[in-house]
Amino acid sequence: MHASARVNEWIDGFLFVANNPILDFLNTKPVLAEGPTELLRDVNALERWLIASTMVSSAKAKAVIRSRRNSTQAAAFLEQLIAFRERLRESVVRIENGSQPSDAFLAEVNSLLIQYPLRSSLRKRDGKVIREMTFEPRKPTDLWAPIIDGTADLLANAESSRIRKCESCVVHFFDTSKKGSRRWCSMSICGNKLKVAAYQRRKRDNSC
Ligand SMILES: [Zn+2]
Repeated sequence: MHASARVNEWIDGFLFVANNPILDFLNTKPVLAEGPTELLRDVNALERWLIASTMVSSAKAKAVIRSRRNSTQAAAFLEQLIAFRERLRESVVRIENGSQPSDAFLAEVNSLLIQYPLRSSLRKRDGKVIREMTFEPRKPTDLWAPIIDGTADLLANAESSRIRKCESCVVHFFDTSKKGSRRWCSMSICGNKLKVAAYQRRKRDNSC
């Protein structure tokens, strides 16, 4: 990995190494030096993650999120979202083990897809017609739309053999490498650590 790529692994205190927004969402509870760490600690942290992940990108959407920051709905939404994240984790682990998500989880996703559809619109750009998702949240629960759309996309469209967990930590990622042989969340977080451990093991074995 190039040094320039490494720089972007952390954005505003959040890890972005998954090549997939929903797996990045799953990785908001990594194991850091101090142990398993909840990065979505409060509504403010969620707001920062939504912006860092570009799930919320327009000035208008940011303003809406900000204006609802102290609402009880925002706090309730965060609680639901974290519970959902853990059910999603279970499904992703099942996929990584060669199985499929549970019917109950698919039913939950289906219900959310109906309640919070992501709208799209067509626009002209550079001589072409492009389709863009239009996301204009009015209340905290509207944030389900991009999360659940991304979840559906991950479950239905991502090549399941490339959804993988780091060999050394709890971080999940979508392997976009040419050979499909990525093993670590990142070279700078786990890769080097494992290489050093393997090197020390070899040295030890050779010396006795
Ligand atoms: Zn790792």
